[in-house]
Amino acid sequence: MFIVGLTGGIGSGKTTVANEFAALGIDLVDADQLSREAVLPGMDALNCIAERFGESILTPEGELNRTALRNIVFHAPEERRWLEALLHPVIRDMMIAALEQSTSDYGILVSPLLLETSQHELVDRILVVDVTEETQLQRAMRRDGSDESTIRGIIEAQISRKARLGAADDIIDNELPMETLPDRVLILHKRYCEMAESK
Ligand code: ATP
Repeated sequence: MFIVGLTGGIGSGKTTVANEFAALGIDLVDADQLSREAVLPGMDALNCIAERFGESILTPEGELNRTALRNIVFHAPEERRWLEALLHPVIRDMMIAALEQSTSDYGILVSPLLLETSQHELVDRILVVDVTEETQLQRAMRRDGSDESTIRGIIEAQISRKARLGAADDIIDNELPMETLPDRVLILHKRYCEMAESK
């Protein structure tokens, strides 16, 4: 199957753009959603996390206490690496399984970490949603109510805008008004349908 990888920094508009493709009938696989499913109660990965960090990493309901885990890995790079080594292959397998279920003309993998991980090997084409860092900051702060330093920290931890654009096959300039998105997405959609047909 022909797969488009859709990526961009925090607050760039990945979800907004992905929803336009979904409106055209294209099946989406959402990396954020799969990464939450990977640590649901009953999943092997959650048991491994509880073994390593103790039961206090779980809520009384047996769910992952994300804040507690984030605090641990934020202060301990080796624990962060351990967690990534555990979760990335699990999430990647879930992605492959989900992409195989796609029935639309082509599939889209929406992932903030497409270029930072081996996930980009799963896709035929890379579509980057691009805005300036200032716009990322403003939109993410408005959406999440987070403070500036938190969002800046996340932007710093992600791949640079320059490197992301360098890896792009296609770019959506999302500085432009949202009303212009459907037409621009339609142009890409038609191109992807043709590419999928000739694959
Ligand atoms: P994250 O990686 O943080 O989940 P994202 O890349 O999926 O973010 P969105 O949630 O789609 O980004 O967009 C971030 C915010 O910016 C949302 O509130 C969205 O409504 C708004 N937004 C998206 N595109 C535009 C645009 N072209 N003009 C104005 N606002 C926009």
